Amino acid sequence: MDSGSIRRKFLEFFEKKGHTIVPSAPLVLKNDPTLLFTNSGMVQFKDYFLGNAQPKNRRVADTQKCLRVSGKHNDLEEVGIDTYHHTMFEMLGNWSFGDYFKKDAIAWAWELLTEEYKLPKDRLYVTVFEGDAKENLPFDQDAYDFWKEHIAEDRILRGNKKDNFWEMGETGPCGPCSEIHVDLRSEEEVKRLPGKELVNQSHPQVIEIWNNVFMEFNRKADKSLEKLPAQHVDTGMGFERLCMAIQKKTSNYDTDVFTPLLSFIGQAAGVAYKNNEKTDIAMRVIADHVRAVAFAIADGQLPSNTGAGYVIRRILRRAVRYGFTFLNFKEPFIYKLVPVLGNQLKEVFPELESQKEYVGKVIFEEETSFLRTLEKGLKRLDIIQAELKGQVISGTLAFELYDTFGFPIDLTSLIARERGLSVDEDSFKAEMEKQKSRSKADAAKETGDWITVGAEVKPEFIGYDHLEADIRILRYRKIKQKNKELFQLVFDRTPFYAESGGQVGDTGYIESVNEKIYIQDTRKENELIVHFTEVLPENLQASFHAQIDKQKRQLSMDNHSATHLLHAALRQVLGKHVEQKGSLVNDRMLRFDFSHFSAMTAGEIQKVEHIVNQKIRENIALDERRNVPIEDAKKLGAMALFGEKYGDHVRVITFDPKFSVELCGGTHVRATGQIGLFKIVSESSVAAGVRRIEAITADEAERYVSESLGLLDQVRDLFKNPKDLLASTQGLLEEKHALEKKLEAFQQEQANQLKDQLASRAQKVNGYHLILEKVTVSSADALKNIAYGLRNQFDDLLLILAADVEGKPQVAVMLGDKLAETNRYHAGNMVKELAREIGGGGGGQPFFATAGGKNLDGLSAVLEKARKLIQ
Ligand code: ATP
Ligand code: MG
Repeated sequence: MDSGSIRRKFLEFFEKKGHTIVPSAPLVLKNDPTLLFTNSGMVQFKDYFLGNAQPKNRRVADTQKCLRVSGKHNDLEEVGIDTYHHTMFEMLGNWSFGDYFKKDAIAWAWELLTEEYKLPKDRLYVTVFEGDAKENLPFDQDAYDFWKEHIAEDRILRGNKKDNFWEMGETGPCGPCSEIHVDLRSEEEVKRLPGKELVNQSHPQVIEIWNNVFMEFNRKADKSLEKLPAQHVDTGMGFERLCMAIQKKTSNYDTDVFTPLLSFIGQAAGVAYKNNEKTDIAMRVIADHVRAVAFAIADGQLPSNTGAGYVIRRILRRAVRYGFTFLNFKEPFIYKLVPVLGNQLKEVFPELESQKEYVGKVIFEEETSFLRTLEKGLKRLDIIQAELKGQVISGTLAFELYDTFGFPIDLTSLIARERGLSVDEDSFKAEMEKQKSRSKADAAKETGDWITVGAEVKPEFIGYDHLEADIRILRYRKIKQKNKELFQLVFDRTPFYAESGGQVGDTGYIESVNEKIYIQDTRKENELIVHFTEVLPENLQASFHAQIDKQKRQLSMDNHSATHLLHAALRQVLGKHVEQKGSLVNDRMLRFDFSHFSAMTAGEIQKVEHIVNQKIRENIALDERRNVPIEDAKKLGAMALFGEKYGDHVRVITFDPKFSVELCGGTHVRATGQIGLFKIVSESSVAAGVRRIEAITADEAERYVSESLGLLDQVRDLFKNPKDLLASTQGLLEEKHALEKKLEAFQQEQANQLKDQLASRAQKVNGYHLILEKVTVSSADALKNIAYGLRNQFDDLLLILAADVEGKPQVAVMLGDKLAETNRYHAGNMVKELAREIGGGGGGQPFFATAGGKNLDGLSAVLEKARKLIQ
């Protein structure tokens, strides 16, 4: 069975069992302060488990793109070395949100594996949670009993908290789990040692394929466990591992998920897979990492120096480094795999195929610049090695490589190992800690547990229709950020818009009979709208009147609607390849990042600006539709952005159905006329293939225009109000240019005259021609020209000039060829000596040298001293 059929069968199976099939959520998370990436299938459903949102369907199944490269689940170091951990992998999952529980989950898992996929029963083992006294958790008897109905008891193993109690992160939903393991070894080996001995022992061919988690608890910040309001099932099966088991392979990389990539890499490197341990690992690393990097970029995460972007950069660099060292890829290569991968997965994850050109370009640029750094870093490492006493590279040096050349410690260690050296990783860590603690005070964030105040109702956002409302507080918690204590409040209903889709969160206040509390910011945490305050209301139970800052909202709205018009105008002027890659909208400006491969011309910018302003003047009324089924929205022409998570019902914002239709949760003007005026202030590059426009609207644009015109008025005044300012300015520049030329010719003439005068005054002294004089010249160049001119005239010249160069003192000494040969004088040494008199220094060659100084009055002293020197 090929991998496509395996995936399809999973989804069909659970569809038949009453599950709704949903799309994968994006790899990169936007509104989740606890996670950077989706690391398991349940992440997109977290709010259902926590009771923050209600699921539309209680049974759901999907295949989810996952990335395990940071935080609690981090497999990066294993990837490529072993054959069954990936950075990005697909997790097949079925979910019950408060619907079926252990019994059905176990029965269906067994049915699917043994009857549909026909995995041999005598090669399967399952585990159940043995309990944990410290956490006061019992043995999972239920799971054990349900398994007993399907599988012999000696195949049901007990597992500890580490393996059989699943937690998403430091906090969040969790519960006991039951894993299914498969033994893929040969008959001989199985006879020698029963598979049960190898379960959870990191044997590459006795591995976990499926984990069924029975979600019952929430891990709180104080580490205690709290019972969830309902019981859920959350399962995750590694798709690539399942393919290995079904296709009877012993490595994920031998399945058709990876073979197309590996053969492409092998061909390019001229290396066969399975020939050499080192090149095999390198090939696996690249085949794996390109998937993580390409899909992260397709989901909107550019490589960068911080946060999620830095993780992506590190993964790509790890791949580049393996290719560079073991496969001799000295030129960018990984980007070439993007079309192969896009084509392979286009049915399931079309986001890559449709952006392959853009993604490839980003990877190419990133590879190019890292290869350059790598060369430099390797040179530095050569020096470090040459100077090394002993076999250990110190943490400080490793940190330097990390900090200046972007060598993560694993790279440095790898290179060190190859060269028979090691790295003092502990002291490296200490250096890292030092750096972190430098920036930590800023980033440090402690989050307390939610404390419930009012009845648990579902919080509602009413800010599209209301800018103020009477509200109550549902819950609050304390957080610490940058060493400052803040509070987060959740209301039963709120007019405050939470930062999302680029638009900043609302600010404002809530007021009760006896207190007024300012809301500093409003943000989303998954679906929850959280209001930030500096103080906690004294009476949390009170009724409050909430009021947002209307002016700020209005200006933000102007900018947000203008962003939509800009997006549409860009697509009209530049082409349909323009897609939103990032956006920021606040009350002062808007910033819009979009895919486009070259800088916009002045003409294009003007055209775009004109279209937007035209649409503003047309005063197009807003057409806002909430709760539109996503398919209908797409039919209306709305473009879904990659990397955004949409529900099945969406909000559609239209300004003229033939012009701008977008899926958007932001707030917008009633009609475009409110925007007033739109002005682009800059167009620049953010990354390969991504351009950035910054623009302003309304009051800000008006101010900008009037300031610019004011400046022009001032210039016009300077010119005494000419008819044609441009012609006058050009005239002035031309005039200046002509004068400069004249001046230059005049100075040249003057220098020639001076040279001739000096030549005529040369005196024959001690058998050579001496010129020792004080002169005034227009530039250092002129002085030099004079000196060389005289040298051509006298081959026995000794020239010493004390010059006033535009008010600055200079000394020049020049010897003719014949005199220089005698070694009697050394121009450089003489100048050094003479320059003291003008408070300066300098030097030069034996036959010619100059020096500048500070003290113009010293020029006569120079001459006197020179006379002494040559006596
Ligand atoms: P392991 O112990 O093998 O690392 P895990 O306990 O971390 O697995 P879970 O968190 O239970 O795995 O994830 C569910 C399933 O996802 C696993 O049974 C496995 O099939 C798959 N899986 C987990 N991590 C990876 C990975 N890094 N690459 C590929 N598949 C994975
Ligand atoms: Mg793991």
